[in-house]
Amino acid sequence: MMNKNICCQLLRSGGIHPDKNLGQNFLCSQQVIEDIVDAVAAGPEDTVVEIGCGIGALTAELCPQAGELIGIELDKRVLPVLESRLQQYPNHRILNQDVLETDFSTFGQGIKVVGNLPYYITTEIMKRLFTYHSYIKDITVMMQTEVAAKVTARPGQSGYGLMSIMASFYGETEVVTDVDGSNFFPPAPVRSTVLHIRMLDKPAAITSDEENMFRFIKDALLLRRKTLMNSLAAAGYFGGDKSQIEAAIVRAGVEPSARAEKLSLQQLADLAEQFRK
Ligand code: SAM
Repeated sequence: MMNKNICCQLLRSGGIHPDKNLGQNFLCSQQVIEDIVDAVAAGPEDTVVEIGCGIGALTAELCPQAGELIGIELDKRVLPVLESRLQQYPNHRILNQDVLETDFSTFGQGIKVVGNLPYYITTEIMKRLFTYHSYIKDITVMMQTEVAAKVTARPGQSGYGLMSIMASFYGETEVVTDVDGSNFFPPAPVRSTVLHIRMLDKPAAITSDEENMFRFIKDALLLRRKTLMNSLAAAGYFGGDKSQIEAAIVRAGVEPSARAEKLSLQQLADLAEQFRK
């Protein structure tokens, strides 16, 4: 059971002052904790990897359900409180390390990833998780609502960009719940959203080189109000030579006057093949 009093007591017992620089807004709503744990839906066959365990609001509820719980937590100060809350669960292992330096392939295939993310590095974490997509079954994460809107944006909507494209290339995303800042200690200054991303068995478009494709998409989306041809000329493809750019766009079966943000994933992937750098 978690509430604001228990959260404050646990922090006090460990002499922990929440560190803004580490994105430490600890979850103190039992309802939100249960919503997240239900969305993870871990069973005894699952390895769950939690990013940023803090004082264990989610960890203590996930351990009894998961086969194995691996927690990644950078802040040494929270470890004694965390370990004491988890002492009854021998199926847990806490790694005191940076999530951005974590090799997710070492945890086996089909892992479930969960976390109330440190918001200062949300985008970097999501990009890193997508690079390990083939090891991950699903991702259940809380992030700022503003960033969640970028992950779920559809073509043509504001916010549609690299994050939305990566999310729909590798997975299927649904919103679990929206969370007010008062559900954290200290209260979070922004609204939050919990997303559940089920990773696809195969990415949603065919490409021979994912890195090239994402680099190309970033360039193509940079100048949103321009046509594809003008964006790609501005980005310096074919030395900015518009006739060569037009020919390459046509070879990909796309209209040169189209805007990148209106194209399907497969159209963008086909274009990227023609604009390999
Ligand atoms: N899961 C806890 C909860 O819900 O109350 C804590 C969530 S808090 C928003 C984010 C946690 O991520 C903090 O415990 C913080 O120390 C940790 N953290 C921050 N940066 C990290 C990093 N680079 N790698 C791993 N953990 C990090």
